[in-house]
Amino acid sequence: MAIDLYNLTIESLHQYLKNGGKAKEVVTTYLEAIAQKNNDLNAYLEVFADALDQAEKVDQKIKENGLESLPLAGVPVAIKDNILIKNRRASSASKMLADYTATYDATVIKKLKTAGAIFLGRTNMDEFAMGGSTENSSFGVTCNPFDKTKVAGGSSGGSAAVVGADLALVSLGSDTGGSIRQPASFCGVVGLKPTYGVVSRFGLMAMASSLDQIGPMAKNVADTEAVYKVIKGLDQNDSTSVEHPLDVNEQKEVMTIGVPYDFISDGVDEEVLAIFHQTVAKLKEAGHIIKEVSLPHVKYSLASYYVIMPAESSTNLGRYDGLRYGLKGEGKNLLEDYTSSRALGFGPEVRRRIILGTYVLSAGYYDAYYGRATLARQLIRQDYDKVFDQTTKEGVDVVMTPTTPTPAWTIGAKSGDPLQTYLEDIFTVPANLAGVPAISIPQGKSKAGLPVGVQLCANHFREDKLFQLGKIIENFK
Ligand code: GLN
Repeated sequence: MAIDLYNLTIESLHQYLKNGGKAKEVVTTYLEAIAQKNNDLNAYLEVFADALDQAEKVDQKIKENGLESLPLAGVPVAIKDNILIKNRRASSASKMLADYTATYDATVIKKLKTAGAIFLGRTNMDEFAMGGSTENSSFGVTCNPFDKTKVAGGSSGGSAAVVGADLALVSLGSDTGGSIRQPASFCGVVGLKPTYGVVSRFGLMAMASSLDQIGPMAKNVADTEAVYKVIKGLDQNDSTSVEHPLDVNEQKEVMTIGVPYDFISDGVDEEVLAIFHQTVAKLKEAGHIIKEVSLPHVKYSLASYYVIMPAESSTNLGRYDGLRYGLKGEGKNLLEDYTSSRALGFGPEVRRRIILGTYVLSAGYYDAYYGRATLARQLIRQDYDKVFDQTTKEGVDVVMTPTTPTPAWTIGAKSGDPLQTYLEDIFTVPANLAGVPAISIPQGKSKAGLPVGVQLCANHFREDKLFQLGKIIENFK
């Protein structure tokens, strides 16, 4: 029986396995699709040669123990190239780490392995996760599966494109300022940034540690939730990780959805706005309550993000000095060794952020930039605490905005002007600054056929509300 990848979900895959189907056949079908399409898309940097062997082992496990103990039995996953899988390459799409082989498994990888997942390959991204289009990859841009002249988004562009093009059932990305949700929106898939701390960052190459989170991408909310449940949890190896304190799943019949209308009124593409308003109307029709909310400090999000993120990134990237690991340049002395390694290894966007970060942290400027940005971040967080406060009658369950101000842009259209791509992060960055969970759900297409997403954001640890509402709106047609 031919396997229909387009309609495959974790549930239907498990039904197929229960009926005697084999993970090996599923993986074979994916590998055929990859062989057909990946050259055009450049979404996988590497397809793992042992994918079929992994599938055989999973089939054996299922035969011995059944499916029950393996929540992701036979699920083909793709992994962003900044998440470590033992004995496999992990380059963060940088020349700096082109030949680096991971010596251990990230915690999320260990969990996926235990759950029975099969790793198909590692996916393209903006170098060190810095960017929003995958154009900053050292290994070529990833094209959008809906239109190859457009970007797939970023930085997890490869992870979004492989799910959007049916070259993997689910994938992992990382999100520091929108890198899961924005490409998910551009490629017509669901993407979740969990609450900060809920998913371990151990084995994720650090970009900005107080903002980074790993999260899943999938074709629907149920599959996203299934992967999220496997990868979350307290981890001794990540001191910022926490046990989800409220594993609640309160199914509310009527949800209250806050819309910050003044925040989304400026600079948003008309078609994106029209799709957003359609979703609002359908929610009302379905009996949910729409309320205007105010997030007075959220307008400072981009400014504070583009100070805090480079500050932390410049510190984290200090380790790539060409001595311990990474590309090694040769100079006449130690200083020249360092400078040549970093000049050869890092692309222009990474260098820009290191310079910016070093500047804002330097003596005399620290308080003016980093200090103020941190203060603004606290105010933004308080804005969210307030709108989600369920003890007042103003409290809402979810805040809804578009995921991005525009659909995917033409490859190259913004490359000369980094500020233009920074502005695209306007709706995604606040959730990282506040540490709250946020999800992008596909909501239709522009006239040119490009997917458009809607973003839902909830209070800390309330992923359950995102899943509940997400399942409602993903069915709006
Ligand atoms: N586009 C944002 C940036 O370039 C987000 C990156 C990310 O989330 N990794 O910083």
